[in-house]
Amino acid sequence: MQIFWVSSSVGEIKSVNLTKKTLAMWLIVATMALISFGIIVEYVRARLALRIDFSLTSEPVNLHRTTKVESLQNEIANLNKLYHARLAEARKQADATQQAMKDRLIQIQRQADISFQKVKELEVANRKLTAIATPPALLNEKQKNTGLGGPFRPEPKTPTGADLPVVLEETLEELTQRNQFIIESAARWDQQIAWLIHKPITIPVNNNVFVSSPFGTRIDPITNSLSRHTGLDFQASAGTPIFSSGAGVVEKAGWDPEYGNEVLINHGDGFITRYAHASQLLVKTGDSVEYQQLIAKSGSTGRTTGPHLHFEVIKDSKAIDPSKVLIGLSR
Ligand SMILES: [Zn+2]
Repeated sequence: MQIFWVSSSVGEIKSVNLTKKTLAMWLIVATMALISFGIIVEYVRARLALRIDFSLTSEPVNLHRTTKVESLQNEIANLNKLYHARLAEARKQADATQQAMKDRLIQIQRQADISFQKVKELEVANRKLTAIATPPALLNEKQKNTGLGGPFRPEPKTPTGADLPVVLEETLEELTQRNQFIIESAARWDQQIAWLIHKPITIPVNNNVFVSSPFGTRIDPITNSLSRHTGLDFQASAGTPIFSSGAGVVEKAGWDPEYGNEVLINHGDGFITRYAHASQLLVKTGDSVEYQQLIAKSGSTGRTTGPHLHFEVIKDSKAIDPSKVLIGLSR
């Protein structure tokens, strides 16, 4: 078969010879072009649907996706429920633990309060005892030597209602402050005791203490005229042990024409004690002596009418009445 047509541009007559074979070839080409076009259109539509809207996809795909999404949503919902339940349980347990710890801290705090109260009572008792034990003549010295002070710390309160970390922090802080207070108190007490045992506060002879001649104006036993007695005379037979009245350093252990064999002990802060008329000296100059250490034995050496201990307390180079310093004789 031949097909003729006139070309409109040049008016030329054109023809094509269509054989069965040529027609079949054209039919195949046209069919393939149509199929390709269909594939391209479906591909573009599917891509647009994925990016923009599921509803554009074909029905079976849309149904499949919806089922999958619902299943995932259910799974997520179930997981959420499970996690919420577990979280609630964990919170409950944490609350219980927190309450238990808070209760324990309150107990610790109460015990600490009791300890603190006891320490304060001890502090008061210590002050009273020190006041009783300190002879009147030393009270001013004591006040001069032991200052009290430090920052003001209000009385701690028992923690209630606060969060555990805050309660914990406050408790630790309070306990630290109390420990510091106890350490400072102990150090202060030690200082007071150390200060006191270095002062001439104890009677230098033991047993049956009898003052045969007091401090002050008296009739001199040798000249029988009025004179000033610069110490106390303790009745003591020859060889009676003489003890240091307080800790200190031996300033002199030797002879004096009037005092005979004598020991002078320097106690610091201007205090010196004299132990006179001894028969025997048991320390030497420069020795350190302890509180109530044996230092000599009584006798009647020097200017004396018989065995006894002449005891003096000298403060800043001036003899003072020993009975105002010695515990047991102080008044
Ligand atoms: Zn005397």
